[in-house]
Amino acid sequence: MQLTWARRNVHLRHPFNIAREKRGGKVDKQVLLVQIRYHNHVGLGEAAPMVYYQQSLDSAEAALAKAAALLGSDPFALEAIFERLWAAIPDQPATISAIDSALYDLIGKMLNVPIWKLLGLDRSRTPITSFTIGIDDLDVVASKTREAAEYPILKIKVGTPNDAQLVEAVLSEARGKTLRVDANCGWRSDNVLERCKALLKLSPVDLIEQPTPAGDHDGLRAVRAAGMGPLVADESCVGPADVIKCIGFFDGINIKLSKCGGIRRALQMIHTARAANLKVMLGCMVETSVGIAAAAQLAPLADWIDLDGHLLLADDPFEGIGGSNGRLTLNDRPGLGVVER
Ligand code: MG
Repeated sequence: MQLTWARRNVHLRHPFNIAREKRGGKVDKQVLLVQIRYHNHVGLGEAAPMVYYQQSLDSAEAALAKAAALLGSDPFALEAIFERLWAAIPDQPATISAIDSALYDLIGKMLNVPIWKLLGLDRSRTPITSFTIGIDDLDVVASKTREAAEYPILKIKVGTPNDAQLVEAVLSEARGKTLRVDANCGWRSDNVLERCKALLKLSPVDLIEQPTPAGDHDGLRAVRAAGMGPLVADESCVGPADVIKCIGFFDGINIKLSKCGGIRRALQMIHTARAANLKVMLGCMVETSVGIAAAAQLAPLADWIDLDGHLLLADDPFEGIGGSNGRLTLNDRPGLGVVER
């Protein structure tokens, strides 16, 4: 198996800001695409490393250089391959996720089946994805909401001193839509109850994501006791070992392939969450259709999906996963089902 990778420049439709990370007006972005070639087939993957999780494009490329020597000659030997990769690059799950996606895509292409089918899933159970409205000036938030008219579920980024105004700006253009909020660690245990109350006065919400920082969970008990929520862990739930730590504080977990290390680890998290009576959300970073398609293969197992990374791009180099009106397509093409435009 031959592993290669390349950076590619893409552009966001709008600048994208969240409570714990301000990128300002930046719309350009580099993505890292990975290929695994085996005989006549090529599997695709995408690494979405995040500085918040101590990874970068540079660290991902260094990890890929190590991983190239560890793949071996049998793409079906997944357990052995990932045992070697986790031993060699344990702190680079975004890179391992890209390799995981490329191997599943490759195997799907070799067997001529889509990954969702290989996993035994029913694509008619794919939930509608939310579409995310990032933090911005209020008039921009309103115009982004107008632009997002086709999407029936919106996720509003909050966790700022003017959350109420942000939510009102969205509501002014989105009456009747299903709303979710994501505070990205922006509140604290000592103000989370009051913040949730204030928000819920404006509108009912479908879920509240990551209200307080990872580890600052005590205040969440009162929020749940007051019947607010459901509360979903994102930054508090990175990999399989974090799932059980969420019991008692959260009602669900947001699994992202780049956080956990790909489809195989995500499946572990989903099964652990179900055993612990936690709900499952699938999320993403800003990624092309390659990264989103990998996560979307698991969508039939999720209660909620937030797989809109490719929809935030103005120039996604790939297609195949759809997304208009919030409907993702798990198509009949083998593997991930994505092709270059
Ligand atoms: Mg989040």
